[in-house]
This record gives sequence, C-alpha cells and structure tokens, in this order.
Amino acid sequence: MTLRLTGGTIVRSLRPPVVESSDLAIEAGRIAPDAAVRAGSERVDCTGCLVIPGNVCAHTHLYSSLARGMPYRLAPPRSFLEILQRVWWRLDRALDPATIRASALAGGMEALLAGTTTLIDHHASPAAVDGSLDVIASALAELGIRSVLCYETSDRDGPEIARVGLDENGRFLATVQTGAHPLARGMVGAHASFTLSDETLAACAELARDRGVGLHVHVAEDAIDERDAERRDGVRVAARLAAAGALDRRSLLAHGVHLRADEIATIKAAGATLVHNARSNMNNGVGRAPVVALGDRVALGTDGIDADMFEEGRTAYLRHREENHGTGLGWPLDRLAEGARVAGEAFGEPLLGSLEAGAPADLVVLRYPAVTPVDASNLAAHWLFGFRSSAVRDVIVGGELVVRDGRPVRIDAEDVAAEARVGAARLWRRLDEIDVHPFEPLGVR
Ligand SMILES: [Zn+2]
Repeated sequence: MTLRLTGGTIVRSLRPPVVESSDLAIEAGRIAPDAAVRAGSERVDCTGCLVIPGNVCAHTHLYSSLARGMPYRLAPPRSFLEILQRVWWRLDRALDPATIRASALAGGMEALLAGTTTLIDHHASPAAVDGSLDVIASALAELGIRSVLCYETSDRDGPEIARVGLDENGRFLATVQTGAHPLARGMVGAHASFTLSDETLAACAELARDRGVGLHVHVAEDAIDERDAERRDGVRVAARLAAAGALDRRSLLAHGVHLRADEIATIKAAGATLVHNARSNMNNGVGRAPVVALGDRVALGTDGIDADMFEEGRTAYLRHREENHGTGLGWPLDRLAEGARVAGEAFGEPLLGSLEAGAPADLVVLRYPAVTPVDASNLAAHWLFGFRSSAVRDVIVGGELVVRDGRPVRIDAEDVAAEARVGAARLWRRLDEIDVHPFEPLGVR
C-alpha cells in the first residue's frame, strides 16, 4: 500500500519535538524520503489534521479487558495483596483460549481506536499457558496492531505452572524468529520478585540473556514486594534482581513505587527502563513512584486500565505536578518517546516512534482544528491540554490503514464487541467458581 497524506501538520518527532507543515508519503510500510506523488498511491486528505507518531503503551494486561463491570461478590479487598488474591489472580485462572482471544481483540481494538499503535503486554492465564501468546499475537494481527508480548512467569500457582510459563516465553520467542507474527516480538515475562523463587528468577534471567531480549517484570509496586525480598534474601528488590542477573539495559520494570535511592542508582547503572503507571498506582493506592529520580529511562503504561496514552500522559503529569512544579510540559512527551524507544529496540527499528524518513509508518491522524498555532516550541502544551483520543480519525501501522474515520478497517467493530460480550459472560461464570488465591509473600503477617 502506498499512501500520500496531504495538507496536514506533521509531528516528525517527540524527543525533541519537530513539527512541520508538509505532505507525507508512505511506501513499503515506511515513511518515504519525500512526499512526491507515486504511481498508484492513495491520497488521504489531512487538511485540518495533525499527523503524529503512533502512541506506545509500555505496560499493559490485555487479559484484563473483559473485567470491566464484572460482578464481585467477595468481601472488598483492603490492600494491594488482597486486590491480587481476590480479583486478578482469580480472573487469570478463569481464562481459557477463547476468552484470551476475546480479551486481546477487545483490548487491541480499543487501543487502536485511541491512537495506540504498539502494546507491550504482560500476560497471565495459569490454566491455559501453552500457546497463549500465539492466541494473543494472532488476535492482534487480525486488528493490525503492533505488540511486544510475554508470559508472566510466577511460582504463585506452583512450580509446574512456573515451568510452563517460562517455556511459553521460550516457545513464543522461537515462533517469532520464524517470522510467523510480523507485527509481534517477545520478551521474557516474570510476575514480581515476591512470587518468584531464586531458581525461577534465575531461569527467567538466563532465558532473556540467551535470546537477547529484555525481562519484563513488576518491581516494587507495593511495599510487600520489598518486604518479601528483605525476608527472603536480606536485600531490596533491585538488588535481588541484579544478583539474579535480571537487570540490564533491556529490562522493563513496571511501577517502581517503593524503590529507595540506592535501588534507583542500581537500576540507572544497569540502564533499565521503568514503566510508570500513574492511574493504576492511584487506583490501587500503592503510593507515588519516584519518577523524576529515575531520569530519562521512564516510559508510560496503563497497567490494563485501557490503552489511552493521551489520558495516561495527562494524568501522570497532573499527579506529578501536584507536588513538583519543576516538571516541565515536555515530560509526558519524553516519556512516550522512551516507550517508543523500548518498542523500537524489540523490533530492531531505532526510528520507531518518529515520522522521519525510513521509520516504520506507525502514525495517527488527529482531527485537530488548532485554536492557537502549533509548532515545535509548544507541541507539548497542545499534547497535554488539547489532544484527546476522541480526535483519532485514522491509524496506520506498518504502512497499512487499520483505522479509517474512527472505525477499524480489517475487522468489524461490532463483531469484536459481540465476541467480547460472549467471552465476558463465559469468563465471569468461570470466575464465580474460583476461590480467593491463597498465595502470600513473606513478611505479610
Ligand atoms: Zn502490571
């Protein structure tokens, strides 16, 4: 497909902001070096629109897509651990291949419609581990969205499930190598220090090193993670990960709320990236992450709430500004660029997240009749206070139009919603029969 986007304002880069008024051509899935008319190219009129790089959500859980509005009959959770034991560790055990697929389709479609072109997902389905990442990759391929997938290895359901979880990561990484999923790549997934034995953690780190990919793991989301590591090994979480060989420049660490200064130094020295999930942290009441201390290597994720990075960026900024007036308007844009850098590394595409010549053509056309001028100097202000996912008109991934006029192109939105509703009914029925998860970290009582 050769496309020519005409009459729009192009955001070529977020870090640093580069904005220009020009046409844009897409050829063989990439941004062409010039906007000249090419034979057979389709023209997309972008008059009155902004063309921006597609957003990257650097940490999400597609498996939670069907949790919206589900009935809940147990006593209300009183802590982060009880939220896991009573909600998420029951929901993940209720998943089967049909509901994994329905969740991925529903969450993936919402992501595209919100202008998110890459999802970095962290998946758990302990009763249906083997092949689960292929189910997700296939569902996302139907939509045409890019992804970096992993399975959440954990000892919380016993050593056998930990072993098959690790195997699923290895199996999927090998499948991706065959070219079976052109829009998907893999990482090695691990839940969190507090549900990983020394052996399992070391095995995850070894697999990631072996395959040359990063480890994607929750870190210090709640104080229980730190207490468990201290009881288990007499060290804090970052030191435990480092000792296991699980911390390097490819590591993707979600949350980091309870990291101490010495741990932040360890993470920075390793060159790892932290994913900040502001809305999730607020919703779970786990505390506020020390995001400024972590410096440049901070990306943004939604932790499964949705995949709306405009909303996440705005909330993260406002929550942060509440106590840090020194944080500039450009902070969320830099965080989005960092997420794109991580995704680009997984795909071997250093230009991913920009619209420079040669970059993969992942972009979003926003209806944005700007009421004040837009240029590189004030892009960040428009992003924060003007951009909305409801303004997403068209979405292009790898050079293909996958959303046109606010509707998915490859798949019928109503069909996806119908499959999701059937899946939700099935998932909620199964969930009803699953008890509170008995796993407890060390140091809780
Ligand atoms: Zn998470």
